[in-house]
Amino acid sequence: MIPLNPLANLATHEVTNMPPHLGDQDLWSGDLALREGIKREGGGWAADKLAVFGRIAGSAEIFEKADQANKHTPEIKTFDRYGMRVNQVEFHPAYHDLMAVAIENEVPSFAWNHPQPGAQVAHAALTYMFNQPEGGVLCPMAMTYSAIPPLRMAGAVGDEWIPRLLSTSYDPRDIPVEQKSGATMGMFMTEKQGGSDVRTNTTRAVSDEDGYRLTGHKYFCSAPMCDAFLTLAYSEGGLSCFLVPRWTPNGERNSLNIQRLKDKLGNRSNASSEMEFLDTWGVMVGEEGRGIRTIIDMVQGNRYYCCFSSAALMRQGLVQALHHTAHRTAFQKKLIDQPLMKNVLADLAIEVEAALTLTLRIGRAMDEAEGDESAAALT
Ligand SMILES: Cc1cc2nc3c(=O)[nH]c(=O)nc-3n(C[C@H](O)[C@H](O)[C@H](O)COP(=O)(O)OP(=O)(O)OC[C@H]3O[C@@H](n4cnc5c(N)ncnc54)[C@H](O)[C@@H]3O)c2cc1C
Repeated sequence: MIPLNPLANLATHEVTNMPPHLGDQDLWSGDLALREGIKREGGGWAADKLAVFGRIAGSAEIFEKADQANKHTPEIKTFDRYGMRVNQVEFHPAYHDLMAVAIENEVPSFAWNHPQPGAQVAHAALTYMFNQPEGGVLCPMAMTYSAIPPLRMAGAVGDEWIPRLLSTSYDPRDIPVEQKSGATMGMFMTEKQGGSDVRTNTTRAVSDEDGYRLTGHKYFCSAPMCDAFLTLAYSEGGLSCFLVPRWTPNGERNSLNIQRLKDKLGNRSNASSEMEFLDTWGVMVGEEGRGIRTIIDMVQGNRYYCCFSSAALMRQGLVQALHHTAHRTAFQKKLIDQPLMKNVLADLAIEVEAALTLTLRIGRAMDEAEGDESAAALT
């Protein structure tokens, strides 16, 4: 929260020439490029919802929670106090509050819950606004959103999981998903010997009477408290995609053995872990031996999130820079009026609008991709 009446007259000096707190931002009505872009690319019908969410996401309270969630970073809790393995990660309460705000406002589910032309574009706007205060929770949001296309091709498994992922209720409890009001999904592909080139995966999947048992490791597993994960492993027929839940269908903790959390440079509110599978239960998704083809739709959704999340970070950087330079004086002028600073700020503004424009254009292509080859080529 913005502190009430902070003291400027300190014992040794007076604090001057500092900008005031930025306070509440309206991330929708204060962003002309966003409003025009959404209308241009076909998402204008969602303007009322976006206007409400722009005020929520831009509130000083949400920025404060984001600050807390990134300062008090997640901690691994491998075992309970009596030495039994739980494979959990504990988060600051602010992280859970942010997750709840995102899920309740359909940040991971809007496009799928409101299928119509412009849905992907409006979805991008929700995420673009939420990513400005906080990028960490956007990781499970991106993966939950992106899991829908491969799950739609997954028959009964998809029918079971999709409604949970599209729920607008955040349920952080580590219990079997059947007892929860909503769920999130992650993605484990990267192994030590290869991230981009996942054909080098060494994890093996052996057919069992009720599914598959996976053994191996994954080296970059973000949001490991999600309820399930799509992952890759070699089965008899080649590299295949599997859904691995935190809890097996018979109500036991699945063998998702978190080894450690990464000490990352950024995105610190989000836990990224290293994981070992040992006879981990999973069910195959898509065709055997076509794992990359199956999971690539999830990868594509994540790439889309990377586009508008990056544009969002740039936008908030610009907002902060404009605020600071508008209130800070150097050499008898506000910084914003100094010619070279004007050049810098104008460059930033152009880059931000370019990134946003490109992202929203891709969103429209995603909306039009089905049945339109040239649109599909843009996605
Ligand atoms: C914050 C964060 C969260 C992550 N979360 C997850 C997660 O949840 N699940 C998951 O599976 N992974 C996750 N990753 C891992 C990420 O997806 C991999 O880092 C990524 O796929 C790249 O793999 P790599 O790091 O092994 O790099 P490499 O594949 O070794 O590539 C190294 C460099 O070479 C470049 N390169 C690769 N191939 C080519 C080529 N053919 N031509 C030219 N250049 C090339 C790459 O762009 C990269 O710059 C996460 C990474 C980060 C940073």
